[in-house]
Amino acid sequence: MKIAEIFQQKKPISFEIFPPKGELSTESFHATLSALSKLSPDYISVTCSAGGSGGRERTAVLAGSIRKDYGIESCAHLTCINSDEQMLCEDVQRLHDAGVENVLALRGDVIPGSTARVFRYASQLMRRLQAEGFCMGGACYPEGHIECADPEEDLRHLYEKQEAGASFFVTQLFFDNTCFYRFLEKARGIGVHIPITPGVMPILSKAQIERMIFTCGASLPSDIIRILYRYENDPDSLRKAGIDYAVRQIRDLQAHGADGIHIYTMNRPQIATDILEGLR
Ligand code: FAD
Repeated sequence: MKIAEIFQQKKPISFEIFPPKGELSTESFHATLSALSKLSPDYISVTCSAGGSGGRERTAVLAGSIRKDYGIESCAHLTCINSDEQMLCEDVQRLHDAGVENVLALRGDVIPGSTARVFRYASQLMRRLQAEGFCMGGACYPEGHIECADPEEDLRHLYEKQEAGASFFVTQLFFDNTCFYRFLEKARGIGVHIPITPGVMPILSKAQIERMIFTCGASLPSDIIRILYRYENDPDSLRKAGIDYAVRQIRDLQAHGADGIHIYTMNRPQIATDILEGLR
């Protein structure tokens, strides 16, 4: 089923996973999928290594397996910045072979030394994929993409992705809902009308947060800083407080009518389980 059709029926709860390193069909990974599928998400998206080679076939295989073996709709991420035309054609063929219907079309991050560059921007990839029949989603950034100095310009590029065929957007993680609400208002104001699903990642450790801030530039509300300070040396309490924060964040987003919720599970089904239980 196309994710655009799911959005016509409901506000989906979706999960994100990443392909495991090493042997693909490890028992533990399928245990992860099995546990996640019991939570009945509306779809599961599978990330894709931004490298032009190595490991990319796993995304298609896993996205296909989620549909076929677990009966849950899937979405395969696809990046383009480090690929040439042939690599892209191979990626697309793998997605078709695996029976994947939904693709999150992304630019990806530049790998130092890579010169492939079939496309420079996600909107170009989307135009290229239009003829392939996928339902396409795209990424968006409530606090602006880290490389773009001007948030208004970033929004114009978001609009271009809708024009290029995107049917839905999923946001980068954020901790401050007011950033999302401001962004949403501006996006709607310039004519972005497709669903925009907020992406939520619970805090689990100080190191994880430091990495996230550095790579995506998410700002930290004082509540998060207090949690990190208070439980710095108490990982169990930090995890619990992180889940509680994510539950409160999601409740607030739902109360504001958010177009679904996307949970970054970090391949830990217990995180998704605890969040969904907290929401009940
Ligand atoms: P784009 O939409 O192309 O934007 C990239 C930058 O270029 C922005 O600063 C934008 O403002 C600018 N820009 C866009 N169009 C133009 C134009 N015409 N002229 C000038 N500037 C322009 N990465 C992975 O490697 N694998 C994944 O699986 C993955 N999954 C993700 C899932 C989500 C939900 C999100 C939010 C991000 C994900 N990423 C993933 C990270 C993503 O690849 C990076 O954030 C990347 O830097 C930008 O990708 P994009 O598709 O948003 O790029």
